[in-house]
Amino acid sequence: MSKSNLVALVTGANKGIGLEISRQLASKGAFVFLGARDQKRGEAAAAELTAAGLEVAYLAVDLNDIEGIATAASTIEARYGRLDILINNAGIVDPRDGPPSSASPEAARRILETNFIGTLAVTQAMLPLLKQSGAGRIVNVSSSLGSLTLNGDASSPYYSARLIAYNASKAALNMLTIQLAEELRGTPIVVNSVSPGYVQTDLTGHQGFMTAEEGARLPVEYALLGPSAVTGRFVEPGQETPW
Ligand code: NAP
Repeated sequence: MSKSNLVALVTGANKGIGLEISRQLASKGAFVFLGARDQKRGEAAAAELTAAGLEVAYLAVDLNDIEGIATAASTIEARYGRLDILINNAGIVDPRDGPPSSASPEAARRILETNFIGTLAVTQAMLPLLKQSGAGRIVNVSSSLGSLTLNGDASSPYYSARLIAYNASKAALNMLTIQLAEELRGTPIVVNSVSPGYVQTDLTGHQGFMTAEEGARLPVEYALLGPSAVTGRFVEPGQETPW
């Protein structure tokens, strides 16, 4: 058992923000399952963190593989019988995405299937384990691009990012946050949407103002919220984000 006794699952943990979230959570004493769809890269990430003295294990989690997600839940159940932290971090963009008048519907289907439906499936599979925790924490790694308000605000820096599918997928993810937070209100489980900021990763072509290590900080903060934790919020570094 880890030093803090917390058990966490991070999806998309083999690189980028997910790898840094995993590193930071494990550094704070949690045992972290590194969810990744590619075994080789997942095991490489686990080896990197283990070599640094952290308690982690690779766990096969492909957001598009419902059976595999059930197997992942069974593995966590068998080893710990509960899950304290679920970080829904895995997500994709697609170069065929774009303005609503011209984005590829196929790309939209792919993005929504991963970022929203896949995340919903992982969350449902892990919920029984989170209910075994004294204080379950679900962090949905969202984006300010998913804000309906900012998409219609010409003064917003996000206004010109017309990616109908990606932005819609994060708006849908935010709906999961609100509805699940309300469904679980009064229980020890809280659910929040956290936008990491504009982060240099493969997803952004390494553009952005923040390193992955910096982008991981707010999701980790919300994963470790104490007993009077907020629920059903949408936040980015330094402020709440309008829905
Ligand atoms: P990244 O470096 O491209 O990492 C994305 C991760 O998601 C990878 O580990 C990838 O695994 C995984 N993934 C993709 N599809 C998957 C699937 N079907 N099943 C399991 N894992 C899958 O990008 P990132 O910037 O760290 O993104 C992490 C999250 O932050 C995403 O949800 C993204 O939307 C969000 N976000 C990022 C920014 C930013 O500025 N970077 C801003 C706002 C929100 P593979 O290696 O197998 O592809």
